[in-house]
Amino acid sequence: VAKIFKALTVDEARYQRFSESNTAFNALSRDRGSGWQMPFARRQRDLAIHAKASPKETIVQREDALIQYALIDAMDRINVMTANWGSGKCNRGGLKWEPADDWFAEEGVERPADAARLTRALRFLARDCGAVSTGVAPFDPRWIYSETQRNHCQPGEPDTQPILIDSDGIPFEDEAGLHLPSTLRNVIVCAVPMHADLISTAPSLYAEAATSQGYSLAACVCLSVAEFCRSLGYQAIASLNGTALSIPIAVQAGLGEVGRNGMLITPEYGPCIRLCKVYTDMPLEQGTPRDLGIQAYCQVCGACARACPSHAIPSGEPTWEGANECNSAGVLKWHVNAKQCLRYWVAAGSSCSACIAVCPFSGGKGWFSGLPQRLIARTTRWNRIMAWLDRRWGVKRRRQTSDQVTPEIMP
Ligand code: SF4
Ligand code: SF4
Repeated sequence: VAKIFKALTVDEARYQRFSESNTAFNALSRDRGSGWQMPFARRQRDLAIHAKASPKETIVQREDALIQYALIDAMDRINVMTANWGSGKCNRGGLKWEPADDWFAEEGVERPADAARLTRALRFLARDCGAVSTGVAPFDPRWIYSETQRNHCQPGEPDTQPILIDSDGIPFEDEAGLHLPSTLRNVIVCAVPMHADLISTAPSLYAEAATSQGYSLAACVCLSVAEFCRSLGYQAIASLNGTALSIPIAVQAGLGEVGRNGMLITPEYGPCIRLCKVYTDMPLEQGTPRDLGIQAYCQVCGACARACPSHAIPSGEPTWEGANECNSAGVLKWHVNAKQCLRYWVAAGSSCSACIAVCPFSGGKGWFSGLPQRLIARTTRWNRIMAWLDRRWGVKRRRQTSDQVTPEIMP
């Protein structure tokens, strides 16, 4: 059976660069007329106070819930201190656009410029800092936000600043906006793993901690990679969720495919990862999109759509547009209703992640990671049988944060 593979299907006549003000984090606060973060944090604390490890599960030892709650803050610390998820943080805080080190020019020394050698070095660095997958995509203006929103998650009028692609050489900011030069022709994109055992208990305090740790790790990776580029005399802009859409860049770099749950699905860790990226003019070897058979498998799987407590993940075919302004019209994909998802987060006191926990590609282990995954990459012939088998066996993938599981995760 021939597989149909199109990495990114975009209707250029309809597609417009996405405004960061339309991420669900910003849009939901506007809809509510108040920030969603405070009630979310309150609900999360209530879970711990009432000895709940998840919205539906009370545990015997309150101390366990309190410890799990503290893990969230602990694992988030590096992220908060440095990059703060990156949203609205383009050229701010730890993500400030630092100039390239120009000691090469001062000393009259040639900068290293061998793309293959530099690519190997930065892959080593990213892996050493915690990345499980690193690739390089070409500069593509379509994925760069049209504007950033400075008053992140705040209700009322968005305080926006345009991101302009109108200069060569050095990125800068002035009254007109943020100027991001297309001479930053390479985008290094890295995936860091989230703790699969913690995610398997989603939605829960443990899963929230895993998400926090993912962001802290991603901050470490992208700040280190950017500094590596600058130290060799090249421009570099580090970014987490801000500046541009990470997922299509990761697809272009060959890290994975976009799944039904709207996330990047990597062959190694499925959607159980977080992404970060660095724009640079350093010469590097670019990757290409890879056909891993994942989207074809998503057609018959649908486990994430069935598991989604907010029914935000579509169960039908890909469409050209989604439910609201949080979706990019003009891209053929499964458009997740991100506002509906975020409303559930607020009600549950958890950033959920059930759609990550149930995905057969998550975790990089279990029956699915062997022969099934290899077959999926070659043919669609066995997809329905494997989806059926996974429905029978995959249920074990998601666990309760019970008093039995807790010592297993954290002895
Ligand atoms: S995080 Fe939870 S609510 Fe949001 S899409 Fe995934 S399963 Fe649904
Ligand atoms: S759970 Fe199934 S349908 Fe959803 S992203 Fe994973 S493989 Fe695709």
